Amino acid sequence: MTAPHAVAVTERVPLAPLTTLGVGGAARWFVEAADEGAVRAAHAWARKRSVPLRVLGGGSNLVVADAGVDALVVRIALRGLTHRERGGAVELTAAAGEPWDGVVARSVERGWAGLECLSGIPGLVGATPIQNVGAYGQEVSDTVVAVRALDTTTGDIAEIAAPDCGFAYRDSIFKRETPGRFVVLAVIYRLRPGGAPTLTYADVQRQLVGRRAATLADTRAAVLAIRRGKSMVLDDPADPNRRSCGSFFLNPIVDAAQAAVIVARAADPAMPRWPQPDGRVKLSAAWLIEHAGFTRGERDGAVGLSSRHTLAIVAHDSARASDVLAFARRLQDRVEQRFGVRLSPEPVFWGVEVHP
Ligand SMILES: Cc1cc2nc3c(=O)[nH]c(=O)nc-3n(C[C@H](O)[C@H](O)[C@H](O)COP(=O)(O)OP(=O)(O)OC[C@H]3O[C@@H](n4cnc5c(N)ncnc54)[C@H](O)[C@@H]3O)c2cc1C
Repeated sequence: MTAPHAVAVTERVPLAPLTTLGVGGAARWFVEAADEGAVRAAHAWARKRSVPLRVLGGGSNLVVADAGVDALVVRIALRGLTHRERGGAVELTAAAGEPWDGVVARSVERGWAGLECLSGIPGLVGATPIQNVGAYGQEVSDTVVAVRALDTTTGDIAEIAAPDCGFAYRDSIFKRETPGRFVVLAVIYRLRPGGAPTLTYADVQRQLVGRRAATLADTRAAVLAIRRGKSMVLDDPADPNRRSCGSFFLNPIVDAAQAAVIVARAADPAMPRWPQPDGRVKLSAAWLIEHAGFTRGERDGAVGLSSRHTLAIVAHDSARASDVLAFARRLQDRVEQRFGVRLSPEPVFWGVEVHP
């Protein structure tokens, strides 16, 4: 079927191979968009038929239901990187379909500080503002200047300045307040030419011990080494932990009173907890899962925990989305029974009636 504006919409395209978890059904309609005109045309196609629009990047933070999705799935394939110098900084504009780690690698090579700790995160540029990706002491909200996006409510292209993006821990307006409203076309990051790397994270500091002045490249290498040790870089096709969405749960942020109750229940002074500027306390989801009685590598049929990282749910051969969700619920239920806090999932769910 060919839509107006030469949009090549295909039907019933399996989505599992387009996600890192590798489970779930098909997209009822599917199109790949390599430029802004194609994104607009896909939007017009969907609007004309009153079909919902879903945006697919690298599929690394996504669980697709076994029944698939009754929507037009637009796979973002816009490419291109440009930069300009401004007030001593570099403003890097990356098209939404650029592979994220390539952008990080390029900025490190150029000596532009700001993204080095975000090395090795799978997926594409367009998804980075959605959940304000972060790792090892940096979040994209530290460097994002603005997000260029198609506003599906008006059909217009908007530039949303960082303060209006509602960035928070693994969150933004794009994920929480108005999911699906904006199709990200490009992201503008402000980087520091010749800047020092961010070395605030203890694991990264340990990895770089003995190095007098760690460079951006050293920091990238350290982060990649740490991530590889946790199967958090998807560059080994033989890794039995490779089929995941990364961390399946957010670290819970609770108020001080609830934190005190959980600490008392845990009866372990070593329980990790990080006070937040607003008085709340962030807890470690991985620690809670482990101390609720789960072990790395533990399996329940075709799904299980990563053997290197308690927060990652891994799909094995013949796993279905329903198996992943049932296992996620088991983790949530057991943590809730033991500690009185319910873990919230990090990935986005498509077509799944009952979220974990
Ligand atoms: C091994 C592994 C390690 C990971 N490590 C980290 C980590 O350290 N830190 C971290 O934050 N995340 C991590 N993740 C999660 C994931 O990689 C990131 O969230 C990533 O940004 C998702 O990008 P994607 O292109 O794959 O998005 P997808 O999974 O394709 O999409 C995710 C969501 O974003 C939306 N979206 C995607 N592109 C666009 C767009 N252009 N416009 C509008 N909406 C869009 C989708 O509709 C969906 O709702 C990890 C995942 C894996 C598998």
